[in-house]
Amino acid sequence: MKTKICRNCAIEIPDGSSAKRAFCCDKCRNDYNILRRNERDGKFLNFLNGLSNNYKVLRIWEKNPELSVTLLQLIDNGFSIEYLPESRIDKYGKYYCFGDFHLYEIGTDFSNFIFRNTKLA
Ligand SMILES: [Zn+2]
Repeated sequence: MKTKICRNCAIEIPDGSSAKRAFCCDKCRNDYNILRRNERDGKFLNFLNGLSNNYKVLRIWEKNPELSVTLLQLIDNGFSIEYLPESRIDKYGKYYCFGDFHLYEIGTDFSNFIFRNTKLA
């Protein structure tokens, strides 16, 4: 009979275990699956996390229906331009849609924005 090796820790799986068994214990099976899931989804989950954080930053200005804000102000409050939703275009120009919060780029240097809370505007 061929010796089976745990996929996670590489120790030998005891004889008499089911032929289908690939892990030495539940912890190894869980650790292995968590690692695979992180490899598969990590970038996406990281991006969602970044978007969520940016949304929280924009909520600082939630009470303002419309206001001018610089990229520096946003960054000072923890905003990261690495995590933006896809841009859209409407009658005011190009914007990033965070639900009710729309962030419009002013010009092309990416340094100034107009923030619009569409709920209040
Ligand atoms: Zn193991």
